[in-house]
Amino acid sequence: MTFTADIKEELARVSPSRRCCRLAELSALLHLEGVLHLSGPHRLTLHTESENAAVARKIFTYLKDLFGISVELRVEKAARLRGHNCYCLYMNDGERTVQILNELGLIDNSLRPVLGVPVRISRRFCCGIAYLRGAFLGGGYVSRPDQPAHMEINFQHAEMAEGLTELMARYSLQPHLTHREGHIVLYGKSRGEQVDFLALCGAHKAVLHLESAAVFRDIREKVNRRVNSETANLERAIGAAQNQLRDIRLIESGTGLEALPPSLREIAEVRMLHPEASMKELGDYTDPPLSKSAAYHRLLRIHSIASKLG
Ligand SMILES: [Zn+2]
Repeated sequence: MTFTADIKEELARVSPSRRCCRLAELSALLHLEGVLHLSGPHRLTLHTESENAAVARKIFTYLKDLFGISVELRVEKAARLRGHNCYCLYMNDGERTVQILNELGLIDNSLRPVLGVPVRISRRFCCGIAYLRGAFLGGGYVSRPDQPAHMEINFQHAEMAEGLTELMARYSLQPHLTHREGHIVLYGKSRGEQVDFLALCGAHKAVLHLESAAVFRDIREKVNRRVNSETANLERAIGAAQNQLRDIRLIESGTGLEALPPSLREIAEVRMLHPEASMKELGDYTDPPLSKSAAYHRLLRIHSIASKLG
């Protein structure tokens, strides 16, 4: 199951106790998942298609609890979902359907579809949150914790984009807006925005998951940085040792090492014996031992002698 499906399962189980919030959540869900067909005065059907069984179950349960109606539920293969199962609910035409859709703010009194966020339904602070949860359940997507952060909600109408943006702003969320394949997409690109939104909607398990993944990623990055910097140091040290050996061989074949002052001759011999030794180790091999910087200075003097020969 995808991470998004996990989150939707979790959010589908969040059940607000107030009727106002349940109405708001159902309104958003039906707006994003439903298709209205108007075939004459008071002849209205609504049909929803959910990829997620838990989401379909939530719509079914809300309709039953809030309005006392049992709608027809069918499992169908959806061409849109490349033949995957989709869970379809059918609310058939009739006065009652019209009443319910009107009460949910999905159609106005003249039976015209409401394209934006119905103000009456989402006005209260508690209901706004429920509405956002419903919108995510209907059209939301979140990238996996191990992928770059991305969250979005997809829908059809510009009025909805405006309404959802305003609603999110009420909870200090600032989504971005784009168009894709005939859809409007509200999205967020940071892990922080993702976490804030999911926490607001009540997906606490998903939030923990994202946060622990972030901690893990942070540790892994620190370890990688450390390994990289140690590798780079080692490579620098090896490069330097090879240059030193070249200088020493140049002097050996030119004037011979005997021509060097004893202190330089010693460090040259130690370097030849220990081509991979670090500067500190070279210092330890001389008699008496030298500090790292003293060993380095002697090798610098060898370099300047060799440069004159070369
Ligand atoms: Zn409420």
